[in-house]
Amino acid sequence: MSCDFLALAQPGVQKLSPYQPGKPVEELERELGIRGIVKLASNENPLPPSRRALAAIADAGAQLARYPDGSGFRLKNALAARLGVDVAQLTLGNGSNDVLELLARAYLGRDAECVFSAHAFAVYPLVTLATGATPVVVPARDWGHDLVAMAAAVTPRTRVMFVANPNNPTGTWITRADLEQLLDTVPGDVIVVLDEAYFEYVQEDDYPDGTTLLSAYPNLVVTRTFSKAWGLAALRIGYGISNPQIADALNRVRQPFNANALALAAAEAVLDDHEFLEQSIRVNREGLQQLQAGCRELGLDWVPTAGNFLAVHVGREGVPLYQQLLHEGVIVRPVANYGMPDHLRVTVGTESENRRFLQALQKVLSA
Ligand SMILES: *Cc1c(COP(=O)(O)O)cnc(C)c1O
Repeated sequence: MSCDFLALAQPGVQKLSPYQPGKPVEELERELGIRGIVKLASNENPLPPSRRALAAIADAGAQLARYPDGSGFRLKNALAARLGVDVAQLTLGNGSNDVLELLARAYLGRDAECVFSAHAFAVYPLVTLATGATPVVVPARDWGHDLVAMAAAVTPRTRVMFVANPNNPTGTWITRADLEQLLDTVPGDVIVVLDEAYFEYVQEDDYPDGTTLLSAYPNLVVTRTFSKAWGLAALRIGYGISNPQIADALNRVRQPFNANALALAAAEAVLDDHEFLEQSIRVNREGLQQLQAGCRELGLDWVPTAGNFLAVHVGREGVPLYQQLLHEGVIVRPVANYGMPDHLRVTVGTESENRRFLQALQKVLSA
């Protein structure tokens, strides 16, 4: 007789819903038999990858039979120099997602609570529930994090708080003053994880660089990634910056080789590619203006964003609209599962990709 193996899983695991990624281009090609598909669904950099990164990957290929450097020596040193922090403060991850998971594994567990906002990044509930901890979801204000309410949601059982700045899928950001007020209010034994996945894209003057607050707040952890502005999403490489004791705890729970050799080499190389980063930022700034102008013409509103994506208020159910857009060869992201049923999230693409999206949106809205 066979068991119910789902029922045997830990209670927290039974409560999970699997992460829903953006639809891959190849999948839609298979389903609809169409070509020239535009994917604006996963906040990826629309530019081809940095040539320096590609060259570094080609070189690293000769050593594929060997395990990678488990200490990530070269990348950590490059990052430490760039960020003005000590190597002992860094934790490398298989994407910054990995670092979020390491934080949950090291600091959560049954009886613990983890505070985050409504409409926040979907990975926070995933990593929380998987440890058996209880998610405490704080209602948002104007789609953004309500930091005063989040601080008030802290109890003696709170171990971790996740703050995405800017947040995905809303694009909302918090100011330096508000962040400092949060850190001044939250007890020093609650780890505040400041997720800066879109840091390099942000242009807003009042946006804080979390790394400048690390020395004042030892309970602060900043996470960043090479998946977005640096254009290396497929390689899976990100990092955390924290006080050395937290990094020590994360180092104990991580896989010995959680960052792979090609990712280590490419990330180190891309850090020197200033041109690539500048171009990425410029393409994003111009693309955001293009998307906003197009939405304005269509009479659509959006959530103010600091990232490389836009949560567009489509004024009707987003999921059917998303499906109609698929038939036009345009993949965006429905966000009903983030409590935003009347929005669609669109990633900023190249000029022609944005145009394709706006044309398709106009077509399906008027159909
Ligand atoms: C994309 C994203 C990440 C991380 O992505 P990785 O590819 O795992 O580095 C983390 N946080 C937020 C809010 C994101 O949108």
